[in-house]
Amino acid sequence: MIYDQASYTREGEDRHEPLLSEKGQKTVDVEEASPLPDALTRDELTLPNPSEPEVARHYTRLSQMNWAIDSGPYPLGSCTMKYNPKFIEDVAADPNGAVHPDRSDRSVQGTLELLAGLQEYLAAIGGMDAVTLQPPAGAAGEFTGILIAKAYHEKQGNDRSEVVIPASAHGTNFATAAMAGYDVVELPSGEDGRVDVEALDAAVGEDTAALMLTNPNTVGLFERDIAEIADIVHDAGGLLYYDGANLNALLGRGRPGDMGFDVMHYNVHKTFATPHGGGGPGAGPVGVVEELAEFLPTPHIREVNDGKIGYETYEPEHSIGKVHGFAGNWLVLIKTYAYIARLGDAGLSDAAAKAVLNANYLAEQIDLEIPHGPFHHEFGATAGDRDAADVAKGMLEYGVHPPTTKWPEMVPEAMLTEPTEAESQASLDHLASAFNRAYADDDEALAAAPTRTTARRIDQADAARNPRLSWQALGER
Ligand SMILES: *Cc1c(COP(=O)(O)O)cnc(C)c1O
Repeated sequence: MIYDQASYTREGEDRHEPLLSEKGQKTVDVEEASPLPDALTRDELTLPNPSEPEVARHYTRLSQMNWAIDSGPYPLGSCTMKYNPKFIEDVAADPNGAVHPDRSDRSVQGTLELLAGLQEYLAAIGGMDAVTLQPPAGAAGEFTGILIAKAYHEKQGNDRSEVVIPASAHGTNFATAAMAGYDVVELPSGEDGRVDVEALDAAVGEDTAALMLTNPNTVGLFERDIAEIADIVHDAGGLLYYDGANLNALLGRGRPGDMGFDVMHYNVHKTFATPHGGGGPGAGPVGVVEELAEFLPTPHIREVNDGKIGYETYEPEHSIGKVHGFAGNWLVLIKTYAYIARLGDAGLSDAAAKAVLNANYLAEQIDLEIPHGPFHHEFGATAGDRDAADVAKGMLEYGVHPPTTKWPEMVPEAMLTEPTEAESQASLDHLASAFNRAYADDDEALAAAPTRTTARRIDQADAARNPRLSWQALGER
């Protein structure tokens, strides 16, 4: 039997149909692809032919030129760059997990069981009724969630044109609402850094499709008025969208569903392990309350109890369609499952407690002012009359990665810092000392920094517009 690693059948059932005949000939009736057009082919290609040690050295050198969570703390606020336990890599590398995504439901029961289990885990954690695993990132989850909200309003015969978003929200929220065809109503932050309930009340009305909210918000402040906020939005007939990027602060302690949110995404690469940075891969599952479940993307996975097979994929009645291939980024989703299963209830709520404790401990150790509090898992320190980007470059000199700078705008010269639960006290002390030394360095030293990294200060606009995408030996630059 070929490709049967993850196949699963109940007693008395046939195994799945083999994809290859006994002799190994293809039985799949797919036409052979046509050759590439001439313009895309070439006759000669000089490829390097390095030895194994040369290949190993090449990649080791590249890894050393880069900063990574395995090199030191990475307190990038809003990104949750936490340590990702290595056992999840073993789980994802298990060849038994690698099944072709287009196989019949019947032949991948183990895979579907795991995905259905993850849907349940995430629903329980978020206080939601149903979860899709399909979106490949937080931003894609937002887009999916807002399309679901739109489909809901349209089915109600309700033509709503606006999405309300606090000014402190992540840029993807604004992009999501615009891409889904909504006008964005930006809500200025109140003086305490939270949603100004009166301003919200004035902004919300019969045109409001949804309010998108991050809680705790992007400087770690919990929206204490969330019950009132939810009432205002619901009374106007709008839906409440939860941006789950900061779920690390609430795990096992508070659930968006209980706060009144109707639809949310989970950034599983931030909250439940999976190394990220450099654009992926990630996953942004979306949870919804009962009333929205019929709009979830297709295919959705559910358990069937007809006594024959355990799990199946199906198209929800008013599905918004597909937002990604098959069931989503499977290898990321396995890691999410493994992380949640290994930590369990107690481990998850302990992670949240330590994330909050670590942020508050670090904040106590640094000399910079922190305008808003009390905060949870991250805080917005201000570099005051110094340039936050310069202080950040200065921190590189002391062997740590700096925090997110100059965002959100409600904190002037912001240094948005999130140490995560994964750092020890010694590591937090090291971070604090780098903060304080860079903050105290003179202007000349900061302007010259960094001097000890592989790349010195780069022209960021040029690096983004004209990226060098292949490795070049020093002499060839
Ligand atoms: C990271 C982040 C997002 C976007 O998530 P991606 O997974 O990077 O697409 C949205 N909102 C907030 C607050 C975030 O920090």
